[in-house]
Amino acid sequence: MTPSNSLLSIVCLLSAASAQAQDKVLNIYSARHYPTDEVMYSDFTKATGIKINRVDADDAGILARLKAEGAASPADVILLVDAARLWRAEVDGLFLPIKSAKLEEAIPTNLRAKPADNGGTAWFGLSTRARVLVYDKLKYSKTDVDSYENLADAKFKGSLCIRSGSHPYNLSLFGAMTEHLGPQKTEAWLKAMVGNMARTPKGGDTDQIKGVASGECGVAVTNTYYLARMLRSSNPADKAVAEKVGVVFPNQSSWGTHMNVAGGAVARHAKNTDSAVKFLEYLASPSAQNHFANGNNEWPAAKGVSFDNPALKAMTGGNFKSELLPISAVGMNQIKVQQMLDRVGFK
Ligand code: FE
Repeated sequence: MTPSNSLLSIVCLLSAASAQAQDKVLNIYSARHYPTDEVMYSDFTKATGIKINRVDADDAGILARLKAEGAASPADVILLVDAARLWRAEVDGLFLPIKSAKLEEAIPTNLRAKPADNGGTAWFGLSTRARVLVYDKLKYSKTDVDSYENLADAKFKGSLCIRSGSHPYNLSLFGAMTEHLGPQKTEAWLKAMVGNMARTPKGGDTDQIKGVASGECGVAVTNTYYLARMLRSSNPADKAVAEKVGVVFPNQSSWGTHMNVAGGAVARHAKNTDSAVKFLEYLASPSAQNHFANGNNEWPAAKGVSFDNPALKAMTGGNFKSELLPISAVGMNQIKVQQMLDRVGFK
């Protein structure tokens, strides 16, 4: 071997080794703000030898970071917790549409992006959460709050508590209402809700549940996992709060309770696409899907996964009718919804 040849083979060996080393690390940008997820990440590493580097931020922060980093972004996988944000990131070209027979088989079409031009899918829903109503059992009965439309009813004057209308969870709920009722009726509904508020929107969903328990609010809107987390809490005070409020899965006699998704995608400039796809496939597997249900009190997005979560069972009575809108259409309405919120003064 000549000296230049041997130098070349050393360089080749080194770059192969570094490619392999790089392949064994997966960079994830995650908006999943749930400590119970840790076990999923470590299970994946144990099974595959692929280490996970995680950057945690909220959905908006992740999108801003991806845009700022551009092609230099180290992100391989993006996890977001809302349909409106998933749609935004897709439209902004931040995802790499992928083809995966496993994901296509596991995840129903209404819980993923519409097929891209190359036939790939930009993102897949991985778990679902219901947006439900909690109420003061001393002031109202279940039938008072059995639909989202009822929140506009005059009987709730000075009684409604809800987090900011511009929060993605509400943008998605209101985007779904726009699909069901049309924009005019939805705007009138939003306006009536503003007239019913007990206070200017503030805090997260847990704060709305606490508001009902304290008597400040008569009715409030929350994602189910916040309530389930309190029901399962080892803190007696949290448990008492959750047990004090009534919960209703609205619209059982019409289109079903609004379901949002948390989902995942491969980043547009991913360097480890094979590992990234493998990780998303792992998240759609029965064991990870079970974890979403038991660890964070969500529902599995994958078809046919059975799970046992007593808090969810207690809340739903076992079964409930969920909305079946294509979640991509819900995300698409968010700009229209924000304009309505501005017009009616929904903070
Ligand atoms: Fe959340």
